[in-house]
This record gives sequence, C-alpha cells and structure tokens, in this order.
Amino acid sequence: METKYIFVTGGVVSSLGKGIISSSLACLLKARGYRVTIQKFDPYINIDPGTLNPYEHGECYVTVDGHEADLDLGHYERFTNVRTTRANNVTTGRIYQSVIDKERHGDYLGKTVQIVPHITDEIKRNVKLLGNTGNFDYIITEIGGTVGDIESLPYLESVRQLRWELGTNSLCIHLTYVPYIAAAKELKTKPTQHSVKQLQEVGIQPDILVLRTEKHISTEMRKKIALFCNVAPDSVIQSIDVNSIYKVPIKMHEQHLDEIVLRKTGVTPEGEPHMEPWLNFLDKMDRATETVNIGLVGKYVELQDAYKSINEALFQAATYADRKLNLVYIHSEKLTEVDVDQKLSGLDGVIIAPGFGQRGIEGKFVALKWCREHDVPTFGICLGMQCMVIEFARNVLGLTDANSTEMDHSTPYNVIDLMEEQKSISNMGGTMRLGAFDCTLRPGSKAAQAYGKTDISERHRHRFEFNNEYRDRFEAAGMQCVGENPATHLVEVVEIPEKRWFIGTQYHPEYSSTVLSPNPIFLSFINAAIEYHSEKAKA
Ligand code: GLN
Repeated sequence: METKYIFVTGGVVSSLGKGIISSSLACLLKARGYRVTIQKFDPYINIDPGTLNPYEHGECYVTVDGHEADLDLGHYERFTNVRTTRANNVTTGRIYQSVIDKERHGDYLGKTVQIVPHITDEIKRNVKLLGNTGNFDYIITEIGGTVGDIESLPYLESVRQLRWELGTNSLCIHLTYVPYIAAAKELKTKPTQHSVKQLQEVGIQPDILVLRTEKHISTEMRKKIALFCNVAPDSVIQSIDVNSIYKVPIKMHEQHLDEIVLRKTGVTPEGEPHMEPWLNFLDKMDRATETVNIGLVGKYVELQDAYKSINEALFQAATYADRKLNLVYIHSEKLTEVDVDQKLSGLDGVIIAPGFGQRGIEGKFVALKWCREHDVPTFGICLGMQCMVIEFARNVLGLTDANSTEMDHSTPYNVIDLMEEQKSISNMGGTMRLGAFDCTLRPGSKAAQAYGKTDISERHRHRFEFNNEYRDRFEAAGMQCVGENPATHLVEVVEIPEKRWFIGTQYHPEYSSTVLSPNPIFLSFINAAIEYHSEKAKA
C-alpha cells in the first residue's frame, strides 16, 4: 500500500499529550499489523536537544544510531516497540542548517533563499524521508508547539502543502483542550473552536479532533464542536484523564480512532487490533496490590520529566513483577551523612541517576556508601555507575580524593577519566559517545544472569569512562568489571558479586525498555528489590 501520512497538531495550550496520542494511535495501527513510525518536528532553533538542560525540555532521549532526541521519542518506542533514529526527530535548527549549507554550496543557483519555498521544501523533504524508505505504511508526524506560535508557521504551511499533494493518503488530527470551569460547573468548547479557526486560517482543515478533558464530554457537546469545526461527529474524540498513559490506546480504540484513521486514508478496517499482550500488561498493573519501594537519587528530582525513561522502565519492570511502583525521589544535593539513614532505610532498592557536573555529586557518594554497607540492591546508571566506582575507590581502596576528572581536574586518582577520543573535541553538541554499542558480559556475573546472555547492545551518552589502569585494584578488592566493549575494552558494567545486587552500567538501559519488551536489567533489579523486601519482612 502507498505510505500514509498522519499529522498531529496541538492547540490552546501545550503539554496536552500529543506525544501520547500519536504513540497510542501508532500502538493500535501496529497491533493491526501495519508498519508504523512516529516522527517529531520541534520548532526550536537548537540543532538537537542534546545541549538543553533538563529544566528546559526534560530528559534527553538517545536513539540507537546516536541521536540526542526529544523525550517524546521515548514514548514512541515504549508504545510501539519500534526503534527510532535520527530521522525521527528534526528541529528548526536542523532545517535551517541544511538550507544554509545548500546555499553556501551554491545549490540555489543565484535565487533568493526564503522561508517559502526553501525552508518549507526542506521540511517537506524531511517529513517524507522515512516514508520514502518503503519500510512503513503509516508515518505519524507530530508537530511540536501550539498552533498560533510564530515558530510553528513554516511547519503548518508545509503540512498544508503536503495535505494538498497527498490527498487521501494523509490526514490531520488536531488536539485541543476543553477546560472545566468549576464555578460554572461547565465544560467550555470555545477555546477549541478558536484553535480550529486558527488552523483553518493557515489552510488546514483537521479531519479528527481529540479533546483533552478532565470530565466526560457529552454527545451533544461533541455534535456542537463537530458542527462549528467542520468535522464529522464521530471524529470528535475525547481524551479524558486516566491513571496511566498506557491506558490511552484502549480509550482511543473504544472511540474507534484507529478505524476512523484507516477509513479516512482509504483503507478498509478488518477485524480488531491484536492488543492481548498490552491488555495483559494493563491487567497486571491494575491487579497489583503489593508495593516495591525504590529510591532515585538525583539532582533534578523536582522535575517530573528529567528521568522519564528511568521512571517508565522501573514502572514496566514493577508491573511485570506484579508490584505497584512506589518511586521516592531523593535530592542528591540535600542528602548528607546526618539524614541518609532516615532517607534511605525503608527502601527496597536505590537507583543512582545519570547526570553531568559537580552539583549534587557528594550526596550520591553518601547514598552509595550507605547502600553498599547496608547491602541494599543498588543500581548506578551512567554517572551513577561512575559514582559507584569513585565511592569504592575512596572508601574501600583507600584512595582518598579519588574522583572523575569531570569533577576534579587535578584529582590524584582519576578512576573515571575523559575518554581518549574526547580529548580533542571542543564542540559540545552531538559529540559525546552516543548510541548503541556492543557489550560482552562475563559469564556467571549477575549482569549476564539478568540478560540471560553475554552479548548485548545498549545505548550510551557520556564523555567520561572507567580508567582501565585501576582495573586490577578494583577487581582484587571485590568490584568486578563484568561488562566491556569488545572492540575498545571500555568498561561498560561493574558489579560487586558479594552484594545482593550492586550493579553499575555505563550505558542507559532505560532507553530500550518498552511496555511489551521491558529491559532485563531493570527486571532483575526490581526482582532483587522485591526479594530484599520480603527478607526484611521476615527478619
Ligand atoms: N557526566 C558523565 C559523562 O559525561 C555521565 C553522563 C551521564 O550520566 N549521561 O561521562
């Protein structure tokens, strides 16, 4: 079949969950047997979000091919089990960079380079890149930002042109907000009407409206919206608040979103989507009564989205282990010897978060020392793994002042050091060790047991690395380097085998954890935490 293009735009306010709606639709289409991918176009000027701090846009996600991407790509993968790549996330910065490069190269043959047609043509070319591979039946394109933003205009103009060129091989889903005015006890449709008008003003007629709401929207109200917005009444769909984002695909299917999309793109729906494994996951989630208590030690704990993929990976693993996840955030900047006991006892497992720079680092050492000495299941990820190594060097090997050269240039014991190939790099953007790399695990190690194999591949995002000169001293004292890159011998996993579960990974296993394929090392960590919980209960 010809590739179909679905555009998802948003109006009224931001944070409506366009990413979740796009992911839910993709999940349903995939469950119907279609080959689907989702891509996001972000209207900011940064080339990619790699240089943004988490306070700006939350977590930076990493694709297998080493692209630093918007966190929505994490949702895309978690909902669809389809790997994303650099082509799935494009920013205004990338579009302009490419147009300016072409201009310098002389490709525009003396013409004045303008937003229309040159920027819009470049956007259109990028929209179609994945479609042109022939690997997908449906390409869902999420347009970042909100209709009416200055930044969004070139994207909307491109969508208008593409809708015109592609005809029934494309459609537009517009997501809006229907606020509930408590004083009047009423839902209000006016913002939706205005937002659709704004879209119509730039020449786009939405085919489907998804209304984000806290209260049920009546059939009458949907008919009214349909009438005012030139949309069929059955194509006005509500997205009511639910207790888990993973229920949204089911809510969308109940209102036939997948069928409507198929019909409107000229495909006759056959049968039902194969959602059994997904429903099984939701069933486990709803049925879990016992809790597993995990602490996350990091410096962005006041920010929901900063550790998004870790939260989701933990949640998925806990659900498969029939537990409710109780995730306790522990601010690493505020954690000291004085309150560590009070803050960490009671937890069944502790995660030491990834991160950059000095802020909050000493709190991570305090947590790690406590966890190691109390033999609590502990999982260090990226900087968290590096902190495990530093804490062990200081308190077990007796190398006082051991550090990473990221935090202390002149440390006498650089147990974590800048990678060789990083030493000549001065540009900050896209220059870390990024993307999936192979790792060989030592047979019999806890990490190898967790994965059930010794050859794995996981995603990375770092500049610093375990210093192999210290390897023998660590191993002799009980911290084993059980995972290494087969080509470069970089240490990717450390563990203390005598402990219940004390593992650090230089890579980020959270990026590859999905609803239907949870990451094995998170499952193993959660199981260790559950076991520890029942041991404590017995004692
Ligand atoms: N700051 C560390 C490094 O660059 C760890 C990075 C991370 O946790 N993602 O190596």
